[in-house]
Amino acid sequence: MDASPNYSRRRMLAAAAATVVPLSGAAWALLSSSSNGQPSTRSEPALTPTDTWNPIIRVNLNPDLFQELRIAVDGPFRISAPGSPRVLAQEQRLVESLVTTDGQNIRLRDASFAISQIEIIPIRSPSIWIGDSLYRGSIRIFRQPDRRLLVVNVLPLEEYLASVINSEMPAAFPRAARQAQAIVARTYALSVMKGHPQFDLFSTSRSQKYLGNQYRDSSGRRLAGETDGSREIVRETSGMVCTWRGRIFSSWFSAVCGGRTTNGASVFTDSVGALKSVECDWCRDAELYRWNRSFDLQDVSRRLAEHFASEGSQLGTLRSITEIPGPPGDLPYYSVSDGAKALRIAGSTFRRLMPYGELYSPRFAATVAGGEVRFAGRGSGHGVGLCQWGASGLGNAGRSALEILRYYYDGIETVRLRPS
Ligand SMILES: [Zn+2]
Repeated sequence: MDASPNYSRRRMLAAAAATVVPLSGAAWALLSSSSNGQPSTRSEPALTPTDTWNPIIRVNLNPDLFQELRIAVDGPFRISAPGSPRVLAQEQRLVESLVTTDGQNIRLRDASFAISQIEIIPIRSPSIWIGDSLYRGSIRIFRQPDRRLLVVNVLPLEEYLASVINSEMPAAFPRAARQAQAIVARTYALSVMKGHPQFDLFSTSRSQKYLGNQYRDSSGRRLAGETDGSREIVRETSGMVCTWRGRIFSSWFSAVCGGRTTNGASVFTDSVGALKSVECDWCRDAELYRWNRSFDLQDVSRRLAEHFASEGSQLGTLRSITEIPGPPGDLPYYSVSDGAKALRIAGSTFRRLMPYGELYSPRFAATVAGGEVRFAGRGSGHGVGLCQWGASGLGNAGRSALEILRYYYDGIETVRLRPS
């Protein structure tokens, strides 16, 4: 997860269609006993699908939209307008084909649908390939005014989470960390539901990573997006969410905090009191706990100049970058100077100006020398909430999933949602 602070959506303040129940004694025992990453020998909690509140979630598979889309279906399917029982087409299977739009119709092979959205509903799940990824559930395709396509995977929340756990956290991480990740990912997903008419969240780190059921790498090898292990973690934590003052909240998390998590309120407008900064050296084994990167001075100067020009300010070639002292744990701000004038910029803004993913975190010391800007940074991601590598460290030290959650989210409760 690495959402920008400006990522806006309406929060769901409570899980309206669900009943909140305290965790049973069995669930407490399960999540409170650390197994140090070894497979549990404990029998699974007696949960059936009807015991778990399992709403449908809608995942945007490409924030940048598709101009054309490769799709294949490995079995029988039908095509309808989303929400309509009327069948527009049905086939026994679909070999890989292109979906396109001319702005009026959605085209698939020799069929043309003169509507703004279609849903491809397979009989068996998973059986729909979008590009090199196989997805559970159905696929909705929305024609956009600019002749691009919005593609949304529609599936039950718990099935979605079975992939998110592996997409967000290595299978080698301790079981307690992966259980905590499942609970946090479920909480986050529910907090963003109903924020958009066509989808709930993105399949990328803009929301939380979701690779689908399987995917092919560049050599065509099939890799598992979900596994028996991730499905087991979902079952063990089924329906469990974190609440703060009785409500589901945006349970932000990031990869590596680098020594101290960041106060949520200094980054996100929807931050609740649970997202306080805490010290965390538990992530020190992460490769990006400390990092160094160098960038061309002219390139960085140009990016900063364009940013400030859009705000009506001018900045010449960069001479220095200095962190502005602020409250410990808050998002850092920097003074950038061209020698004649100094301007203020948030670390998160600076990071967004650089090529995507190149500046690992907003927490760094920077020096300008020899035609380069050298960054010595701490951590990876925005740093708010659960630190994934920290959760791994805590899990390896024998802490339970619930202890990990309480370490990063101050004053929260963990409850299980069931159908009302
Ligand atoms: Zn950490």
